[in-house]
Amino acid sequence: MYKAPRGTVDILPQEQVYWKYIEERVTFLCQLYGYQPISTPIFEDAQLFARAVAGGTDIVNKEMYTFKDKSGQELALRAEGTAPVCRAYLEHGLFNSPQPVRLYYIAPAFRYERPQTGRYRQHHQFGLEALGEADPALDAEVIELAQRIFVSLGLSGFSIQLNSIGCRLCQPKYIEVLKHHYSGYEEQLCPDCKVRLSKSPLRLLDCKNAACQEIVKTAPQMTNYLCDECQAHFLSLQKYLEVMGITFQLNYRLVRGLDYYTRTVFEVQPREEGGQSALGGGGRYDNLVEQLGGKATPAVGFAAGIERIILNLKRQKIDIPPLAKPAAFIAYLGEEAKTEAMKLASKLRGAGVAIIGATENKSLKAQLRQASAFGISYAIIIGKAETETQTVLLRDMTKGEQRSIPSGEVLTALRQPRPQVPDT
Ligand code: AMP
Repeated sequence: MYKAPRGTVDILPQEQVYWKYIEERVTFLCQLYGYQPISTPIFEDAQLFARAVAGGTDIVNKEMYTFKDKSGQELALRAEGTAPVCRAYLEHGLFNSPQPVRLYYIAPAFRYERPQTGRYRQHHQFGLEALGEADPALDAEVIELAQRIFVSLGLSGFSIQLNSIGCRLCQPKYIEVLKHHYSGYEEQLCPDCKVRLSKSPLRLLDCKNAACQEIVKTAPQMTNYLCDECQAHFLSLQKYLEVMGITFQLNYRLVRGLDYYTRTVFEVQPREEGGQSALGGGGRYDNLVEQLGGKATPAVGFAAGIERIILNLKRQKIDIPPLAKPAAFIAYLGEEAKTEAMKLASKLRGAGVAIIGATENKSLKAQLRQASAFGISYAIIIGKAETETQTVLLRDMTKGEQRSIPSGEVLTALRQPRPQVPDT
């Protein structure tokens, strides 16, 4: 028997209610803020991610799904959403449209990770990107939109962690100070941090290892080393968030798993830890478009994992509105009635009424059981007598009452908010 590949899951119909719910809220709120949808291919030139996400990260070093196609070109499945959006921004000259360009997407991402709760090899993200301006008001907008999406989904108790990791000017100076802090501790570091020290020193700050955490406790804080512009940006952002009524926690240890971030970084942490934690994260990436061959283009974005959101919706027992059920189930008895049933189903669907039709020649009882199992409110029953008189029996499945009506009136009856099954 084949199984879905390790770290992937099938999303069966009963789970889809969560997906549709999230998609609908994300779409509504993104559009409320003027973000437009964008879709990019599921695979890209592998170099795009290698360049954007950069060499010191797990994503590029260990987790990318890379492969050569038949022409020998090295491709990678989408590892994250921001680099493809920047590529599209450059490729289609979106820098010529009024800036900032606000975009959002809902798309799968692929990372070869060790699967566990909330961590998959194929997961799905929704993401927002605002490209073309450096104004901290945009950072605040993205954070507010992210927060509003979580609130509108019904989630509560999450926190917004905020930090600034500076820019090309001030970050290297801070990294020198940080490395200096670590000198003498090399031997005590976990194997990952030993590599981080030379390859991505900022990530030393969010190591989960107990011994490493002791060293982080006394580490210098980036926010004390920001240049004047980064400092002003960070202070303005905090002021904007305050006036918007957004509560955040400054977290000097917050850095992100992708190397393209500059200045603002933030993460949304759920109330309950575990399930690999972060619901989403984002920040500024002012150098990324330039790094990919464009002009200097400041930008800010956010991405959240849909599987983690669903995990938290379930943990918090949030009621999800059910998907709409078909309006009626058409049952029949006998071949002649079957033809009538199919004709009627076709007519009703043509008029936009959702119908499930019985198939195979089951007993009426079995057909009605099926209608109940689908949770359908009305059954239309056609037997020999109904065929001859051009009528149907309209049965209210909840009340168990039924009444004969002319076939020509079914559409009108079903279109009423709650079709009346008249008294006998
Ligand atoms: P990142 O692109 O790493 O910033 O991830 C953005 C969000 O995607 C994270 O905060 C998680 O919610 C989610 N995410 C990242 N990796 C995975 C994964 N392997 N499985 C499930 N969700 C993930």
